[in-house]
Amino acid sequence: MNEQLRELYQEVIIDHGRNPRSFGELCGATHKLDGFNPLCGDKLTLFMKVNNGVIEAIQFNGSGCAISVASASLMCEALKGKTLSEAKNLFAHFHAMVAEDKATNDSLQKLAVLAGVKEFPARVKCATLAWHTLSASIDGQDEAVSTE
Ligand code: ZN
Repeated sequence: MNEQLRELYQEVIIDHGRNPRSFGELCGATHKLDGFNPLCGDKLTLFMKVNNGVIEAIQFNGSGCAISVASASLMCEALKGKTLSEAKNLFAHFHAMVAEDKATNDSLQKLAVLAGVKEFPARVKCATLAWHTLSASIDGQDEAVSTE
């Protein structure tokens, strides 16, 4: 990755980490699930309003490191208006990018800013916490998700 691109990615992560989008409890949520990453202390609650298999609204709240907050913020932005199966598919690509060191998939678009996380294995759980919570919520799990 060239230096300019890396800096741009860094800026997006810092921006979303400090000023997360889609932040706050969602009224009328059909899905609500807590996620926890004990390794870093990241905690979030994910809210979704799903209608006919489409994610009409998605928000989160909680607290954690910049990577976990930025990842949740970017995830919510990316998933608004997507179907549940599209969301699962995107999670698979995202996971492949940060945890399996696979090449970035075009469908990831802005989520590619988190590709650098793969160089820091301890941060992979920060970056995937929101996604694991999403996946469990789609599966109908009601027990809080833990990355450990
Ligand atoms: Zn973290």
